Amino acid sequence: MDALPQRLRDGYAMFRRGRLAAEQDRYRELAVRGQTPQTMVIGCCDSRVSPEVIFDVGPGELFVVRNVANLIPPYSPDNAYHGVSSALEYAVTVLGVQHIVVLGHARCGGVRAFADDAAGGEFIGKWISLLAPVAAVLSAQDEGRDSYLTRLEQASILTSLQNLRTFPFIRRRCESSTLALHGAYFDVASGELSALDATGGRFVSVMPPSSSPQ
Ligand SMILES: [Zn+2]
Repeated sequence: MDALPQRLRDGYAMFRRGRLAAEQDRYRELAVRGQTPQTMVIGCCDSRVSPEVIFDVGPGELFVVRNVANLIPPYSPDNAYHGVSSALEYAVTVLGVQHIVVLGHARCGGVRAFADDAAGGEFIGKWISLLAPVAAVLSAQDEGRDSYLTRLEQASILTSLQNLRTFPFIRRRCESSTLALHGAYFDVASGELSALDATGGRFVSVMPPSSSPQ
């Protein structure tokens, strides 16, 4: 096997000197006690949208699954390999997370590939077709392309939230209020995070402009 890229070796050296040194006790405690994260995040693979960075969390705090366009497939127990569904099952039924956040983002390459009908390959085209039902009800007319892509990116979050509720173990916990589902959208250029409001119909800035970083 090839050696790790130098950038990663350098980064690890920094981690050892900085964060690991500062959080060594926490790592040791987590190793002994195991993990008890309260929140699961479903994010996109995009290298600019790391949930741990955006939410500034430490080790053991977030249970994260990332895939192309932060999508959740509908509940379908069969003989196929289900990576996302396995992670959901473990997070909800074993770890007992209390929150699941679907984190979408601006300038999503997966969503754009779907919009351009350019998602081919052996796997991506099929995967991203999970967006087809919601795209069918979005009109691309009378608005600019950027605005359409934003709506489609946000619709991918709604699709995932909808599909989450097709899993019986999630639906049951939502009904008994032991699990809450959330949608969030990260604007890569501005760093602004918005979240779905209580009606589930609108994304609202988590921090209004007046509380922007100095
Ligand atoms: Zn993306």
